Amino acid sequence: MNRALYPGSFDPMTLGHLDIIKRASLMFDELIVAVLDNTQKTPLFSTDERVKILQEATKDMPNVKVDYFRGLTVDYCIKNNLHIMVRGLRAVTDFEYELQIAQTNRKISDNRVDTVFLTTDLQYSYLSSSTVKEIAKYGGDVSHSVTPYVEAALKEKFITIKG
Ligand code: ADP
Repeated sequence: MNRALYPGSFDPMTLGHLDIIKRASLMFDELIVAVLDNTQKTPLFSTDERVKILQEATKDMPNVKVDYFRGLTVDYCIKNNLHIMVRGLRAVTDFEYELQIAQTNRKISDNRVDTVFLTTDLQYSYLSSSTVKEIAKYGGDVSHSVTPYVEAALKEKFITIKG
């Protein structure tokens, strides 16, 4: 079976991420979308919340599974017998960063984990989780950038934070 991992922070998942998930799910028999539970960063959404958002968005994609992990992505891959990682590319700036990570991952996994890149759909190339959070924080419209579920989750989050 041809399986792949799509790892990321997904804080929160945007339509750009979802587009990559949809397209990658058509290329592999099974796609695991895994949230990085990074103890060094303080995300807006908890790991559980980010997993729930991805599960909701992929509920009609039977070959997509959602998970989370801590530590090195290659360790997660090897433990789960995954040898292909999917990453999205928006711009040349993404490429430089992603190239370095992909080469590092190949090296530290003894060439057992390779990365394939999908270029973003042009309509989402400007999108990032950080700008979505910034817009939502000040009450701006994010309906073109995220699913209605994420839009509602963002509203609730910022109401709670502002108290
Ligand atoms: P990271 O894992 O680098 O913290 P993200 O969770 O934002 O960042 O991104 C996970 C993956 O999704 C990365 O490969 C990133 O390049 C890709 N990605 C992010 N935003 C988009 C977008 N708008 N279109 C396509 N791919 C994207």
